[in-house]
Amino acid sequence: MYNAAEQYESLKSSFRAQFGTSIDFLRDADVYASPLYDFIRRMPKGADLHAHADAILPMDEQVAFLRDHPELVITPEWQIHYFGLGAPYGSRTMAECLADGLTVDDFRRQWTVLGAAEGSYVWDWFEGIFTKCGAICTSPSLVQDYYTRVMLYYHSIGVEHLELRSPFFGTREDALARGNAYLRALQEVRKTDPAFTLRIVACGGKNDVWDPLFDSLMDNAMYVRENVKDGGHDLVVAIDIVNDEDRSYSLSRYEDRVREIVASHPGLRLTLHAGESLHGKNKEIEIALRCGIDRLGHGFNLYRYPELQEEVRRKGICMEICPVSNAALGYCADFSAHPANGYRKSGIPVVICSDDSAYQAHSVLIGDYLAVAVGWDLSLDELRGLCRASIEYSFLSEEEKSALLARWEAEWDLFEKG
Ligand SMILES: [Zn+2]
Repeated sequence: MYNAAEQYESLKSSFRAQFGTSIDFLRDADVYASPLYDFIRRMPKGADLHAHADAILPMDEQVAFLRDHPELVITPEWQIHYFGLGAPYGSRTMAECLADGLTVDDFRRQWTVLGAAEGSYVWDWFEGIFTKCGAICTSPSLVQDYYTRVMLYYHSIGVEHLELRSPFFGTREDALARGNAYLRALQEVRKTDPAFTLRIVACGGKNDVWDPLFDSLMDNAMYVRENVKDGGHDLVVAIDIVNDEDRSYSLSRYEDRVREIVASHPGLRLTLHAGESLHGKNKEIEIALRCGIDRLGHGFNLYRYPELQEEVRRKGICMEICPVSNAALGYCADFSAHPANGYRKSGIPVVICSDDSAYQAHSVLIGDYLAVAVGWDLSLDELRGLCRASIEYSFLSEEEKSALLARWEAEWDLFEKG
């Protein structure tokens, strides 16, 4: 008789024997052909609570998306450009690129961290990808189609709830158009999966270029929160501030404004990127805690601050852990040494998330679970606990959480029956 836990243990040890615990999700295609990968792909995962707009669709799907949208062209500098006035000479549609012999792998080299030069600072290349691909969702109809595909993809890998990090650029009306496009995508997806849920964590940026925009991004976000509702629920549930921590302004620059926004919008939740660093001398986690975070984005270097770690544990603050991203950006090469295993063991709630999978892997979230399953040598029961936590620590309402938990439990039981 089929025993899922035994099957899993056997797949895990074969995987470990073949690949070890330093898994390269961009260069080693064999990972995706392994039976353990397939097992984890089928596993009902609950939710992804940390994924960034518009960096989700795997590259083969992103290429297909562009092929279906001839209003987007690719410049000779590999930049996506909305067709029309100003598209540089030599720009081609994706269909033309493919007809000219370019392949998905060519785009992978340009639009994932695979293209970062050996020994270089990966963040430079990584942020360049956001510049190159930033125009992929330039219009509301592109947002709608991109996120319809994103959510159907999640549905196909056993994810039923997405908390998407998204900035709302432009005017209030632009922001509203983007918010409504998310909602239309959700309505489209519900024709396939009536219970799928989407919530938005609105983002500001803490680097030079974006800083003057911070107040307008937050004003836009709160405007969308007031005006875009999924049934009776706010689409925008939380705020966050993002960018490379080691080279951006400190969270301290935004602390007062963050406190004020949260205080003046009852029910608004807070999750901040902090501790995505190898350094031991920054104060980001301390400031995030002072701001009153509900969840902590990454918190990678928390081990350097034992008192803060104790505070996170005592307050039951959930940490959003993105292992594939941490490896892709150079924080941790060997998943067995990823510090979040220690956080988990010390009693801190941990959830497994995808971050920017389009630019860091060939699939979404599956690799993240695979990395910790193998790296932390988790039992199937422990994996189940991580999936459950993704629902319990989501920003859904209590009723929505109970409903999703009940459905997920039933799906998990079916999964274990094989
Ligand atoms: Zn992130």
